[in-house]
Amino acid sequence: MGPPGSGKGTVSARITKTFGLSHISSGDILRSNISNKSELGLLMKCCIDQGQLVPDDVMSRLILRDLRAMDHSSWLLDGFPRTVPQAEALDDAHSVDTVINLNVPFQTIKQRLTSRWTHLPTGRVYNVDFNPPKVPGLDDETGEPLVQRDDDTPDTVTLRLKAYENQTEPVLEYYRSNGVLETFTGTETNMIWPHVEAFLQKKLFSVKQKVA
Ligand code: ATP
Ligand code: MG
Repeated sequence: MGPPGSGKGTVSARITKTFGLSHISSGDILRSNISNKSELGLLMKCCIDQGQLVPDDVMSRLILRDLRAMDHSSWLLDGFPRTVPQAEALDDAHSVDTVINLNVPFQTIKQRLTSRWTHLPTGRVYNVDFNPPKVPGLDDETGEPLVQRDDDTPDTVTLRLKAYENQTEPVLEYYRSNGVLETFTGTETNMIWPHVEAFLQKKLFSVKQKVA
């Protein structure tokens, strides 16, 4: 969990690499539907470009379908659930053992998002100010072009932050009262990450001990 641009994508990539989980990003799934011009993608593009959330039933169906296909491997969700009804739909199908919340000030976020470049096929993100690609405009791993997301404009970012406050903050309360929420505060992903990593190492260690 975390507001747009809080570093969910970057932290998720580090978690999945370090701990060997599968990464499911709702935003990446939607963007790949848009770039493949699927019917769903075309329908959802205008919601996304206007900084609004896509309807709960559409989103929950997409994610739960992907989770069913994962079989027994462990997974990390990024960008889902974003509303209380989505959290309830997830709970009906799976039990969530840890929720990581990245708490980054809105001021930091606005500045970050408008200087962000994305490799759409993988969701890899760069920032011209503090995490630039090796070659300007190109993805480090594939050499393919980077783009600015259509929803990373200042006005749309403001709307996305509003949607976050109104619709997503209640989800934090939902998980806080379930006792699974762990919040990490900071303005830089590189400062937050070691704390997330240490928390997950400890958590995994205690799960393994219980299993043993
Ligand atoms: P960032 O990519 O920096 O984490 P973000 O959280 O705003 O920012 P995505 O998660 O990529 O970006 O989502 C982009 C857009 O896709 C959202 O603004 C919303 O329109 C739609 N979207 C993504 N996940 C959901 C969801 N769970 N429910 C509804 N809409 C979603
Ligand atoms: Mg993201």
